Amino acid sequence: MQHFDLIIVGGGLAGASLALALRDSRLRIALVESRPPVVPAGWDARIYAISPANVAFLEALGAWKHLNAQRMAPIRHMQIFGDAGGRLNFSAYDSGVPELGWILESSLMACEFWESAKRQANLTLFCPAAPGALEFRHDAAVLRLQDGTVLSARLLVGADGRDSWTRQAAGLAAINTPYGEKGVVANFTTTLAHRNTAWQWFRDDGVLAYLPLPGNRMSIVWSTPDEQADALCALPPVAFCETVSAAGEGVLGGLELLTPPAAFPLRLMRVPETVAPRLALVGDAAHGIHPLSGHGINLGFQDVKELASLLAATPPWQDLGDVRLLRRYQRARREETLLLQGATDGLRRLFKSGAAMGPLRNVGLNLTNGLPFVKNALVRYALGAF
Ligand SMILES: Cc1cc2nc3c(=O)[nH]c(=O)nc-3n(C[C@H](O)[C@H](O)[C@H](O)COP(=O)(O)OP(=O)(O)OC[C@H]3O[C@@H](n4cnc5c(N)ncnc54)[C@H](O)[C@@H]3O)c2cc1C
Repeated sequence: MQHFDLIIVGGGLAGASLALALRDSRLRIALVESRPPVVPAGWDARIYAISPANVAFLEALGAWKHLNAQRMAPIRHMQIFGDAGGRLNFSAYDSGVPELGWILESSLMACEFWESAKRQANLTLFCPAAPGALEFRHDAAVLRLQDGTVLSARLLVGADGRDSWTRQAAGLAAINTPYGEKGVVANFTTTLAHRNTAWQWFRDDGVLAYLPLPGNRMSIVWSTPDEQADALCALPPVAFCETVSAAGEGVLGGLELLTPPAAFPLRLMRVPETVAPRLALVGDAAHGIHPLSGHGINLGFQDVKELASLLAATPPWQDLGDVRLLRRYQRARREETLLLQGATDGLRRLFKSGAAMGPLRNVGLNLTNGLPFVKNALVRYALGAF
């Protein structure tokens, strides 16, 4: 049996960033991952809008400065449209910040984290590896990998995504509410410049976002009912581009496909208990949120920041797996997670609620647009400034 202080199952963005955040700690860490990240040949269709609060977190990890600046675009303006003339505009200039967020590819971050993890002195990587059995003893979590290797640690962290093996093996409940929608993602070149603007349209058939990539390129996330998502993905490239351009009111002119569309099923997932004796969950293992507000990994990074600072500050004589300690992490993250899940879900319902609510929700957007104080409060919340 190999002994560690901490075992992390899942080396995606949440798990690998947790390992990095504990680089200078005294903890001996094992990271178990089934497959290492790969750099795609072209542009990755999986992109993230990273909030300034999380840019600061990635700077503190030392990862931000190593990311390829040629593959990242700042968001300086946002335009949100309702389905009946409602409109809301934000700008970094009006909000007194250099940018509202950054758009970057998932694989760009994942590969950077992974390369750093490989060089980390207090980290042992088990990859490719998958967990086979988990046992919680009074003094340790014992994880048997499928190849027969046995690891033990005071604490095991599940960072293995929304279908978390760890969460299930530990018997922690997850309340899933499928949206009946998929998020269609794809990248395009555009004939018109985006001027670092992100657009979002709340439509009868879902929510479409145009997100700026460097140069005359952009990425979309179109969350729409399952059948329409499948139909969109089945369109020939030219017809797909025309459909996306028409849905986006032609704001970026003609579109040409850079990366073919892919669709991800969407669901709301609430996990009432994200800790147990010798166990904590972070990232998508701990929550699922609709992508319309782009908060998924942003919530995950804040989980990691909170848990890492708690673990790093724990004196050597205190048991890292003590559930009383872990509950401090759970309490610290619960409010923001529930608030954002609720707000995002509420927004989606409001714009799905049919014609009766139409005028009201669009008036709401227009009213908010006319109220600088409310707008600034919204921007500050989205930036993670509260
Ligand atoms: C369409 C769409 C658009 C999105 N847009 C945004 C956005 O703009 N901004 C944003 O913040 N979020 C966004 N998200 C959410 C974001 O993708 C997730 O929040 C994020 O990927 C979660 O990271 P994670 O590390 O927690 O989990 P994952 O990315 O799922 O990583 C889990 C890791 O664990 C490994 N693993 C899993 N099971 C095992 C096992 N049994 N053994 C070993 N390893 C295992 C996997 O290989 C993987 O590396 C979007 C999601 C969707 C679907």
